[in-house]
Amino acid sequence: MVTDALSSEAKQDLRLTMSNAPGLLLCCDFDGTLVPFTDDPLDTELPKSQKSLLQDLANLDEVHLAVISGRDFDELTDLVPIENAVLAGNHGLNLMQENGEIHRPEVDGKVEPVISRIRDRVHDVYEDISGIIIEDKGIGLTVHYRKYDGDPETIKEKFYRIWSEHEIPELELLEGAKLLEIRPSNWDKGDALQTIRRDLPEIPAVYVGDDTTDEDAFAVLKDDPQGYPIVVGKEKEKDTNATFYLEDTQAVTEFLNFILSFSG
Ligand SMILES: [Mg+2]
Repeated sequence: MVTDALSSEAKQDLRLTMSNAPGLLLCCDFDGTLVPFTDDPLDTELPKSQKSLLQDLANLDEVHLAVISGRDFDELTDLVPIENAVLAGNHGLNLMQENGEIHRPEVDGKVEPVISRIRDRVHDVYEDISGIIIEDKGIGLTVHYRKYDGDPETIKEKFYRIWSEHEIPELELLEGAKLLEIRPSNWDKGDALQTIRRDLPEIPAVYVGDDTTDEDAFAVLKDDPQGYPIVVGKEKEKDTNATFYLEDTQAVTEFLNFILSFSG
């Protein structure tokens, strides 16, 4: 059972936890969490009001804000031009700490040549299919089919076929929100969260996210008494590691405003 993070008990509990702690790590996924999905991921924008809310939170001494996204790092920093925040692109494979320091975990040498072969195949197979967007993430690759009108199963089948031709244990295939992705298997958003936490004193951590990739981060916080894993979308309550939920991106904004209202 997941609890509404905006219920008065949940809010009271978080307020109490924060008043007894020297700070809060506040992690948010981007797409589907801080902003609603758009048909084309390149059309997504962070509304001005949302940007200033995030900047206000990041400016608080006791709040450490982190945005952890599957998007490419440069894309994410363009979309979320927030100062004094941790920005983690490509699930944290490219992570900038609050002080601007860059952290990149090591990736096995086998990964790059295989990704490059997969990239060629993916371009061959999908290039002429209308509504398919191929996102190149350097050490990773995503196929978005949100704009595709046909049967998504045919898109998946093609992707799994390419994967079966190139599969190595150092890489993994992942299905997300209307997307298929191949990425290094030794790294996920849970690792990103732990990397961020290592540089901070022991403080409570909130993680808000809507997708399968966020589950790895929820799992890290699940049994932590100072952890608040929050899934976006109530219908996801059955298979989640989260203990709380927020109904939609609007509820996320309300929750962030709640944290701002009693901080500072
Ligand atoms: Mg998301």
